[in-house]
Amino acid sequence: MNCEKCGGNHPSSSCPQAWLGGDLPFPALDLPPPPTSDAHTPTHIPMPPQPLAPMFTTPAPTVDPLLGMTVGSYRILKLLGTGGMGSVYLGEHTGIGSKVAIKFLHEHLANNADLVQRFYAEARSVNVIGHANIVSIFDMNVLPPSRYYLVMEYLDGKSLEMLVQQGPMPMSRAVPILVQVCDALDQAHEAKVVHRDLKPENLILVKRGRQEDFVKVLDFGIAKLQSTMASRKTATGVIIGTPDYMAPEQAQGENVDSRTDQYSLGVIAYELATGKTPFAGLPITSMLVAHLSQDPRPPHEVNPSVSPAISQVILKALAKKPEARFRTCGDFAIALEEALKASSTSSVPVFVPSPSSIPLTESAAARVTPAQLPDVPSPSKVTPMGPPGPVAPPVSQSQQGKAPTPVGARGFERTPAQAVAAIPRHVARFDVKVKPEGGADQTYTCQDVSRAGCFIICETALPRVFSRVTVTIPDVGSMLGDVVRHVTKEQAEAWNMPAGFGVQFVAPRPEQREALDNITRGLPITPLAPQTPTSQADDPLAEKLLTDVRKRIQGDHYVVLGLPLDVDFPQVKARGRELSSQLMELGKRPISAGQRKQLEAAQDRLKVAVDVLGVPSKRVEFDGMRFNWKGVGACLSGGLRVTELEEVRKRFLKANEGTEARSALHVLTANGHERDGAVADALRVVEHALSIDPLNLELHHRRKALLRKTPLKK
Ligand code: ADP
Ligand code: MG
Repeated sequence: MNCEKCGGNHPSSSCPQAWLGGDLPFPALDLPPPPTSDAHTPTHIPMPPQPLAPMFTTPAPTVDPLLGMTVGSYRILKLLGTGGMGSVYLGEHTGIGSKVAIKFLHEHLANNADLVQRFYAEARSVNVIGHANIVSIFDMNVLPPSRYYLVMEYLDGKSLEMLVQQGPMPMSRAVPILVQVCDALDQAHEAKVVHRDLKPENLILVKRGRQEDFVKVLDFGIAKLQSTMASRKTATGVIIGTPDYMAPEQAQGENVDSRTDQYSLGVIAYELATGKTPFAGLPITSMLVAHLSQDPRPPHEVNPSVSPAISQVILKALAKKPEARFRTCGDFAIALEEALKASSTSSVPVFVPSPSSIPLTESAAARVTPAQLPDVPSPSKVTPMGPPGPVAPPVSQSQQGKAPTPVGARGFERTPAQAVAAIPRHVARFDVKVKPEGGADQTYTCQDVSRAGCFIICETALPRVFSRVTVTIPDVGSMLGDVVRHVTKEQAEAWNMPAGFGVQFVAPRPEQREALDNITRGLPITPLAPQTPTSQADDPLAEKLLTDVRKRIQGDHYVVLGLPLDVDFPQVKARGRELSSQLMELGKRPISAGQRKQLEAAQDRLKVAVDVLGVPSKRVEFDGMRFNWKGVGACLSGGLRVTELEEVRKRFLKANEGTEARSALHVLTANGHERDGAVADALRVVEHALSIDPLNLELHHRRKALLRKTPLKK
């Protein structure tokens, strides 16, 4: 049955998107799949040696042997599209009905080992990157004897290619789309992956909550890990990208890098702005030559509604020489946003803003500068956690050593626009207290926080729908709320999310709304209560120290102690003693009553931090649930018993479904690297697996073994 609200395969009355105005990350189900199209020049340069099997040249669904077949837990329902490497089918879980897309490598390519490698390279690359704007891949396998396939997230949306055929897109809509692609690419590039085949067909727009144009980048199939590029021959070279979008260096067969992707995205930006690619209409060879030597007509000349500022930004990404382009795709994104802002504030309206530009503009208004951020290691109590989908959020290597930051590896260089895209709201989870009417406070984990409400994860008895509860969120305070829906265990399984209930807040105060907004963006929460004003009696020196203390006690236990995530136990104790004696000294000064109160609060907070981080059995729970595998490692070295670890992991796995499958996929990748002798890469992937499954003892052992093989790494 198709729901009127979201089109999903359930009755409208139980629509998961009904509460909070559809602000949940549920997968939409069952809408027609994006049709493929061949309006552009050939998507791939054809592969010379192998003749195409007749079945694929004239696809006749009635004779397609895959239709109706069951692979793993999925029944194959229909063909969604065909590309150069394979055909993609819609699959449905035979038990719970969830939809996936299954991509089969073309049969006639199966005996080419290099191509099979490349096919799986997609899963590898995607998992190494891990980004909300890149399609998630859940599994890879082979149907005997040799049908290789990948199981991935089913994208129910439109490809950008369908939209560009409708003519130029207003930049108010195009820029937020491009910025999301930049963000995904930036993270890919940080993980040393270059896409190499960016084109509108590989960018799918899906609806996510209220966001219409949520981008998913497809087809990292010919992406290559730069680190393995040097050692491997590029002999396969059958698929070399699409001429319309091909950078000069790529057309010449030179080294490609992150700036090659930037050029292709520049072509896409050009096409969105003007309705056509820069050298459209030329035969392939002339087009390749044009990319090398001909300047494209500036977009604002082709389409006068494009501002010269935006035109200039696009042309910079299209520079012939890679070094003349933006340094990174992140810089390209910032320039696009700036240019858009400049053109929309100029006196002459350059274009009519489209309503669907909403997704990222709200965050553009709130650009943060590093100066606005606290100088404590962690920006807030919000800990980014794994999304409910099977691929974990990115935890780049450089992030792992630091306190959790809400953004990618470049930390706060990112604008909030990107931070929001990188950490969708459902990713933030933390503990809250919930008190039903007439009942007592109980601690739960909550997610999907927005101004309007939140989702409380709960497997036991759910409070009645429409009953009143009081929700207390750290740093936001207590708010009244109505229980607006239940997600039962069965529904949770089908929707790939935890069971629990949705709460809609009843009239939160403006400052609470602001704090909620910050939580959802992963930004620091400004203290709610105005700090006690400095009175005559306040001691100025104590005030200086207390300012720092006030900031610290906003953070998690590590922030309170000012210690790294992998700190060992003796250091926790030593630091606890040191801070405690500092606070005691402070107490001996002639401080005001207000200051004394703050001091006592700090002493209490410090005690709790030491009590948790100083005891392996407590710390492992704290670290595990926050995906801090380094801390878990420290617990293991600090004498944590294996049985204790397993107990916590059991609870963790229950709260984070799909963890084992996801980390197993990385283990496969790590095995591959190790087989190739790439120990450092294997180590990186194992650490990534740990960031998904932080309590996995085997992974910790594996990491240690790999560390022993890489003497350079600490
Ligand atoms: P190839 O690597 O062979 O080029 P693609 O990944 O481009 O394959 O997929 C071919 C087509 O299948 C796409 O153009 C798209 O229409 C469809 N498709 C691919 N992945 C998905 C998905 N996850 N959900 C829905 N449709 C998809
Ligand atoms: Mg493709």
